[in-house]
Amino acid sequence: MLKKIIPLILSFYLLSSLVGLSSAKAEEPQSVESIFTELESGITLSHEQLIQKLAILKASIPEQDQANYLRLQALRCWNYDASNENQRTQAIAFANKQIEKTYTKQYKESLLDIKLCKAWFQELNGQVAQAIDGYNEVIQQAYQIESLKLIADARSLRGAMYSFQGNFSIALEDLITAQHLYDNLNLSHWSQINLSDLATSYRRFGDPQTAIKYYKQLETEYLKLNDNDSAILMITEMAIAYEQLGEYEQALEYYTQAYDYWFEQDDSFSAATIAVNISGSLLKLDKVAEANTFLTIAKASITPSEEAFYSFMKLFEAEVHFTDNEHNEALLDLSEARAAFKRVQNKRGLAELSLFESQVYTALNNWPKAFHSLEQYVQLHNELDAKMQSSRTAEMRARFNTEQIETENKQLIQLQMAKEHEVQILKQNRYLQFAVLTLVVIMLFFISLLAIKQAQKSKLLTILALTDHLTKLANRRRTYSEGEKFFSDKSSSLALILFDADNFKNINDKFGHDIGDKVLVELANASNLMMRKTDLVGRVGGEEFLILLPGTTLEQAMKIAKRFVESISMTDLSGLAEELAMSISAGVVAKEQDSSFSELLQRADIALYEAKTAGRNRAISNTMLNEITA
Ligand code: GH3
Ligand code: MG
Ligand code: MG
Repeated sequence: MLKKIIPLILSFYLLSSLVGLSSAKAEEPQSVESIFTELESGITLSHEQLIQKLAILKASIPEQDQANYLRLQALRCWNYDASNENQRTQAIAFANKQIEKTYTKQYKESLLDIKLCKAWFQELNGQVAQAIDGYNEVIQQAYQIESLKLIADARSLRGAMYSFQGNFSIALEDLITAQHLYDNLNLSHWSQINLSDLATSYRRFGDPQTAIKYYKQLETEYLKLNDNDSAILMITEMAIAYEQLGEYEQALEYYTQAYDYWFEQDDSFSAATIAVNISGSLLKLDKVAEANTFLTIAKASITPSEEAFYSFMKLFEAEVHFTDNEHNEALLDLSEARAAFKRVQNKRGLAELSLFESQVYTALNNWPKAFHSLEQYVQLHNELDAKMQSSRTAEMRARFNTEQIETENKQLIQLQMAKEHEVQILKQNRYLQFAVLTLVVIMLFFISLLAIKQAQKSKLLTILALTDHLTKLANRRRTYSEGEKFFSDKSSSLALILFDADNFKNINDKFGHDIGDKVLVELANASNLMMRKTDLVGRVGGEEFLILLPGTTLEQAMKIAKRFVESISMTDLSGLAEELAMSISAGVVAKEQDSSFSELLQRADIALYEAKTAGRNRAISNTMLNEITA
C-alpha cells in the first residue's frame, strides 16, 4: 500500500511544483503587467481598445497599490488627445495633480514619466521654456536612476523640439542617442517615431537626401505593419524634403497623395494641413490661382492655435495677396504669421517672412520698413547660420561619437540586463531551494519508512528464526538460550520439565501424519495454558518439549508436571480422530549444584528416560541427592 502511495506523492509534488512554475510564468503577466507592457510599447491600438484596456487597469489597480497606480496615471497622461488644445490643458492639470501627491517620490520612474508627459503637452501648448525645463530635469534624473527607456523618451522629445526650433546641435545628439537606445531596447515603435524625427532634423539641417532615405525606409516599414496613417506622414515628410531640394513637381506629387488619403479618410484637419503645404509648392511654381484654392480649403479648418500650420498659411496668403497687388492685406497676413512664428520660436519661418516682407514694403516704396525687414532677415539668417555651423560640427561630432554613444548605451543596457538576470537567478534559486527541500523531506520520509520496514522485517526474521513454525512455541535454539539465561541468574531458582509424547510413532502410523501434527499443536496449546506467564514452553524435538520454570522448586515443579501429565492423558481428542488418545512422560529437575544448563538438562533427560522405562504416562524427578518417584 505505502509502496504505491509514495511514488504517487512524489509525482504529485513534482508535478504541482512544475505546474506552479509554468503557470507563474504564463498567467501572472497575462493580466495587469501585459497590458502595461502593451500600452507602454506604443503599439497602435484603436481608440476603443485603448479605452477598454485603460479601464481594465483602472478597475484592477486601487490607489493603495501605489507603484502600479502611478504607472497607470503616467499612461493616462500620455493618452490625452494631443490634437485637442482643451485636452492638452487637461493633461497638464492631470500631471500636476499626480506630481503633487506625497508618495510619488518613492516611484521615481513613474514620477519622471508623468513629468515628461507634462513637458510634452506644455511644448504642444506653446509653453516652450517650461517644456525645456521639464525635459532637462527628466533627462538628468533618468540618468541617475539608469532608466534607459526614460532617457530615450526624454531625449527623443527634446531632440524633436530643438530640431523644430532649428537648434540642430542638441537635436542631433539627442535623437541619435535615443535612436541607439530604442534599437537596443527593441522598442521598434518608438524607434520608428524617433527615426522620423531624426530624418526631419537632417532635412532641416540641409541634408534632404539623407532625410528622404530614412523616410522611405520608414514608409516601407509602416506599410508592412498596415499603419497607413504613418506611411502617409512619411510621404508628407518626403514631399517637404523634395520641396527643400527645389523639386517642386515631385513634392506636389507626394503632397497630393497625402491630401487625397486624408480626404478619403474624412480627416478634414489633416487634409487642411497638407493643403497649406500644397499651396506653398504651387506658389513656387507660380501657380497662384491653384495655390489660392488650397489656401481656402486650409482656412476652413486651421485656427491660430495651430501655429505650425497657421503661420505658413498666413505667409502664403500674404504671397497670394501680393501677387494680386493687395499689399495691405498682405501686410495684415504677415503680422499674423509673424505672431504665430514667434509663439513657437520658428526662426526659419521668421527669416523667410522677413525677406518676403521687405519685398512687400519695397513694392509699397516704404524703404525704411523694407530695410528694417531686410535687416531682420539678415540677423535671423546669421543666427540660423551660426546655429547651422555649430550644428555641422555637432553633427560631425555626433557621427564621430556614434560609436562612443553606442558603447555607452550598450554598457547601460548590459548593466540593466545584469540586474534583471540577478533578480531572475534569485527567484530561480528560491524555487530550487524549495524543490530541493521538498525532495529531501520526501526522501527522508521514504528512507525512514524503509528503515522501519527493514527493522520490522529483521525483527520478524528473528522471531521466525526463534519460533517453531508448527506450534508457534519457542524453538530449540531459543528455549536453550533462554534456559541459559535463567540458569545464570544466581538470585533465582530454576526447574525444568522435559516431556515427550508417548508412542507417538503409533499415532502417526494409525491416524496419519497430519493428525499427528494437530496433536502436537494441541499439546503445545495445553502446555502453554497450564504454565504461568513467567514460564517458557519450547519445542526441542519432534514430539519433545521443555518447560522452563524460573523461581520454582523441585517440589513445585513435580506438582505441576504430575497435574500436566494427568490432564493430557484425560484430554478429549475425539474432535481430531475417533479413539485418539495420548499421554506424555515427563522428567523433572531443579537447579542444584549443576555446573551448567546442559548438565541440568542432561539430568532432565535421564528422568524422562526413567519415566519412559517405568511405563510412560508419568513424571519422574531427578535430584543429585535422592530420587522422588511419582
Ligand atoms: P516413545 O514413547 O518411546 O517416545 O515412542 P515414540 O514412538 O514416541 O518415539 P520415537 O522416537 O520412536 O518416535 C517419534 C516419532 O515422532 C517419530 C516421528 O515420526 C514422530 N514425529 C516427530 N516429529 C513429528 C512431527 O512434527 N509431526 C508428526 N506428525 N510426527 C512427528
Ligand atoms: Mg515419543
Ligand atoms: Mg521422542
